[in-house]
Amino acid sequence: MTDGTTRAARLAHPLARDALRQITQDRGGCIRPVQLRRTDLDTGQVTQILIPCGATLDTTCPACAKRARSLRAEQCRDGWHLENEPADPAPAPDDQQETWLTLRAHAQVRRDQAAAAGEDTAELDQLIAELDDELARSTRHRQDTPDLPRRPVSSRTTGKVYTAPDGTRYRPSMFLTLTCDSYGRVRDDGTPADPGSYDYQRAARDAIHFAALFDRLIQNLRRYLGYDVQYFAAVEPQRRLAPHVHVAFRGAISRADLRQVIAATYHQVWWPSTDTVRYDTGQAPVWHEGTGRYVDPDTGELLPTWDQALDAIGIDDQPLHVARFGPKFDAQGVLAGTRDARRCIGYLTKYLTKHVAGCHRADTDAQADHAARLVDALRYEPCSPACGNWLRYGITPKNPRPGLIPGQCKGKAHRAEHLGYAGRRVLTSRKWSGKTLDDHRAARKAWLVAMLELPATDPARYQWERVSPSDRDAMSPTRRLLHILDERSRWQGALTEARRRSRDQAQERGPQEGFAA
Ligand SMILES: [Zn+2]
Ligand SMILES: [Zn+2]
Repeated sequence: MTDGTTRAARLAHPLARDALRQITQDRGGCIRPVQLRRTDLDTGQVTQILIPCGATLDTTCPACAKRARSLRAEQCRDGWHLENEPADPAPAPDDQQETWLTLRAHAQVRRDQAAAAGEDTAELDQLIAELDDELARSTRHRQDTPDLPRRPVSSRTTGKVYTAPDGTRYRPSMFLTLTCDSYGRVRDDGTPADPGSYDYQRAARDAIHFAALFDRLIQNLRRYLGYDVQYFAAVEPQRRLAPHVHVAFRGAISRADLRQVIAATYHQVWWPSTDTVRYDTGQAPVWHEGTGRYVDPDTGELLPTWDQALDAIGIDDQPLHVARFGPKFDAQGVLAGTRDARRCIGYLTKYLTKHVAGCHRADTDAQADHAARLVDALRYEPCSPACGNWLRYGITPKNPRPGLIPGQCKGKAHRAEHLGYAGRRVLTSRKWSGKTLDDHRAARKAWLVAMLELPATDPARYQWERVSPSDRDAMSPTRRLLHILDERSRWQGALTEARRRSRDQAQERGPQEGFAA
């Protein structure tokens, strides 16, 4: 072996390393590969394997983010115009009330059995009382039912088929874009015409509760249309930095139906009031170890618990916030495999490799100021029942722990790069394509393996371990990149060759063949 150290040292020079990273990235290689040690359990042979980091953000690893996005596009395409019902995935998690009821029933049976056996039931009676409290709480502030006709929901998930006079069958699906309501007039660059009257608080709250509002829309649509409507949705900010959502629905839905359901959909946030600031910055409540709660810094008085604060919301009180969509929406019917379908899938996946805030860069001072004012409004807005900001309003947050300080909650919603929306960027219904993202990943890998005529390996034959930087066989970042670059070049060459081969074979077979859809 020649001396690799000197060369490795030269390549470790920042300029050379930057160039190496750039070229690797340009060839579609991962720039943060993870090193795994693979031991062949039959032969004892150890091989070092580099696998892609799997990042979804452009800023972390462009190649992996691009692959993740194209996988999403594939998933979107697969489910949109599905003709047959997909396989039923795992059952949906129970809703909270159902969980409490099940526990309550269980406790009752155990109590009755204990009583019949002449045992002490004090503990079970206590448990039953607590469960009754939870049940009462979960039913008290039920969401009002929207003003919509309700139909029984059938388990059908595929759309209607239309047959033209010439016998051609169409199965149109929908592409919908939904936005939040107006918070004040905005200019073309997305900034408010009058920042003073722009409703930043409502903008902040709508963003925080956007995911819940979307869930409610889907529930209402299913009840109204009477079938198990399936969707693939992508959430991203508009230029004015309010979230909007592009949705691919399977099956055609009329604009009139959509308008009615959107108008009737709202999400009520039954949280305690934040009208009065009880503890301003610098006078935050302090943790009390004995009770596991927060106390007033001056008087030592216990702050109400989250449950007590919820119970104090009266029958006549208003919800903290009511989130709604704006009246404007954009809906179009889309046929499978058309240019329109491809364009819409492009919209749906366009911004997936960027942070919410990275979708629209602030180019001007006005845009930067607008973003800063929104982040300001989000700073003291509670993002969840467990948010430290509740202390500002004199309430112990849910599941309290020491160290909470109002205005310093680590929740994603408060961060400048998320702009209030902490949810997932892609929302898919359970029966979209009948496949998980992992299934799509595996299918793609199987295709590559077949295309390149690689030998299939038996997974049970190997043992895998992650190599940590302190291990003796750990590769330096530069060496990892060199391996990735080499691998990419060889794969691309092999793939080009495989594609050429299959094209040649198709041509040899003649023009009538090889056009399978
Ligand atoms: Zn990567
Ligand atoms: Zn928070």
